[in-house]
Amino acid sequence: MTMSLTVLGSSGMYATPERACSGYLVEIDDQTLWLDAGAGTWRNLMRHTDFRELSGVLLSHRHPDHTTDVFQADHARCACPDVPMPPIPLWAPQETIDRLLGFAPDLGECFDIKPISPIVEVELGGALLSFITMAHPAETLGIRIESQGAVIAYSADSGPEANFGALARDADLFICEATLQNSDETWHGHLRASQAGEIAAASGAKRLLLSHLPPGRDHEISRDEAQETAVGIEVELAQDGQRIELPA
Ligand SMILES: [Zn+2]
Ligand SMILES: [Zn+2]
Repeated sequence: MTMSLTVLGSSGMYATPERACSGYLVEIDDQTLWLDAGAGTWRNLMRHTDFRELSGVLLSHRHPDHTTDVFQADHARCACPDVPMPPIPLWAPQETIDRLLGFAPDLGECFDIKPISPIVEVELGGALLSFITMAHPAETLGIRIESQGAVIAYSADSGPEANFGALARDADLFICEATLQNSDETWHGHLRASQAGEIAAASGAKRLLLSHLPPGRDHEISRDEAQETAVGIEVELAQDGQRIELPA
């Protein structure tokens, strides 16, 4: 069993030349999952895998910085394929599905659309995916991926009120949003980097990857503020193209 995560996009809010919006590629043995499809992640995905081989797409919530590139996969796989491709699962909260269908009513011809919620579990390869409701102004699910004892946890977008203990408990890799810095005004539904550090420490996470980093900021400040509270934990800034192998 092998599991890895590649960062396809790590920018919060909008893409820049250096960072696409939120997105990750999770590989579990021969299964390939596209986790969040923010602007720019489709282009980056094609650098790392063959889109014909995708096993499924999973979206954490409806906000455009996490979803809009899903239509690129729709076009590539179904609207103009050389060879028609069978539908692959598209897992997302019901609210996200409703919004996507409003934009592209025929999306179900390309994807096997499957609503997810905290009472649903998904098996992919030998891994189990579970979902936790996050604190964000949209129906948002954090994602916990467990494979033979190795754990990846992804916060999606969230304020501090969510059940991070359930999401990130003993995670080998915790990808956490760090939209804000200590000098920022509080922004409902998002975390300061220092809060991401506190949460990682309280959850027993082993490695903290800060993501959803807004443009125009000195992200080293975010890293330093998170490291101050994440005592004894390896803290780093997500970088587009970065690949992390998980112990399995
Ligand atoms: Zn959001
Ligand atoms: Zn976002």
